[in-house]
Amino acid sequence: MMKAVTFQDIGSVAVLETPEPTLELPSDVIVRVTRCAICGSDLHLYHGEIPMMPGDTCGHEFTGIIEDTGSSVGKFKRGDRVVGTFHTACGSCNACQRGEYHLCASAAVYGFGPIYGALNGSQAEYARVPFADINLRHIPDKLEDEAALFAGDILTTAYGAARNANISAGSSVAIIGCGPVGIMAIQSALALGATRVIAIDLLEERLQLASSLGAEIINASNSDPVGRIMALSDGEGVDAVIEAVGGSRTILLAFEMVRPGGHISAVGITATQTFDYPLMQSTTKDITFRVGLANIHRDIDKTLALIANGKIDPTVVISHRLALEEAAEGYHLFDTRVASKVILIP
Ligand SMILES: [Zn+2]
Ligand SMILES: [Zn+2]
Repeated sequence: MMKAVTFQDIGSVAVLETPEPTLELPSDVIVRVTRCAICGSDLHLYHGEIPMMPGDTCGHEFTGIIEDTGSSVGKFKRGDRVVGTFHTACGSCNACQRGEYHLCASAAVYGFGPIYGALNGSQAEYARVPFADINLRHIPDKLEDEAALFAGDILTTAYGAARNANISAGSSVAIIGCGPVGIMAIQSALALGATRVIAIDLLEERLQLASSLGAEIINASNSDPVGRIMALSDGEGVDAVIEAVGGSRTILLAFEMVRPGGHISAVGITATQTFDYPLMQSTTKDITFRVGLANIHRDIDKTLALIANGKIDPTVVISHRLALEEAAEGYHLFDTRVASKVILIP
C-alpha cells in the first residue's frame, strides 16, 4: 500500500492508503514520486466541475525516480530521475505521428477522472506511467526535481502560449494575469527574445514578482491598463498579448491592447463555453487569435533546457512546500489563494 491524495467530495481531499500501482503494459514504468504539485486545474475537480469518483487519486504534475520498467521500455531504467508530462500520449496514433501529442486520440490526464482517461493521479508515493518512452523525460543532472517539475505542465503551457503569440527577438508583449502561468509566460516571452514585457494584474505582490523578473508593470486596480499600454507603445499597442486569467473580459481587453497585425494568445483556463468574438475589430486590425492546449511533448525539451541553463527559474512561483500528508491543507491554501503554488513532498 502507499499514501495517495484522493478526491472525497466537492472541496474535500484526503490522504489515504491505496494500492500501489503495478506494471500493466510492457510500455509502462512505475515511478517513485519525489515531488508533485497542486495545479490550478486541480481546483476544477476540487470544485466538482470535473467529475471524479470518491477515492480517485488526484494530481498530474510530478517528478520521480524509476522504480520498475515494462519489457518494451527503451529509454529508461531503474534509478533514472524523470519528469512526467501532465498527460500521456500514445506516440503511434495519427495525431502523435504528426507530432501533435496534445491531440493524441488516447491521451489521458493523470488524476483527472473518467472523462480524461481514468488514469490514476500522481499526488502519491508511486505512479504508473503508460507509454513511458513518450511521456517521461530525464531530468538533467544539475537540475533539482522541484524546478524540473514545472516543465511537465505550467512552464511548458506558458511557453506554448508564448509561441502561439508569435513572440520573437524584439517583440513587445503584454501579459494579462500574473498567476503562476502568467509569471511563466513572462519568463518564456523574455527567453524567446521579447525586449519589452508589460505585466498586468490587480495584486501588487504578484506585480512585484513580475517586476523582479524584468517586466514593466501595470496595476489594473488603480489605472486603466489599455490607456497605459497605448501610452507605452506610441498609441499603437503591443505586438503580442498573452491572456493568462481566463474568461471573456480579459480576452476582450487583449483585443484593445494589441497593435494592428498583432497576435493574441489565450492560455487562461476558462469554464466559459463561448464569448462574443470582436469580429469587426479583429478583421480591421488583422488580429491573429490563438487558443488551444499546449503541446507539452513538443516543447518540454526546450523548457527543460531553459531551466537547466538558468534562463528560467520556475521555482519563483512556489509559495508552500508541504508533506504529501498535508495535501488537504495545501488544497485549502491554494483554493483560498493564500498559496500561489504548492509543492507536495511524498
Ligand atoms: Zn497542471
Ligand atoms: Zn497518440
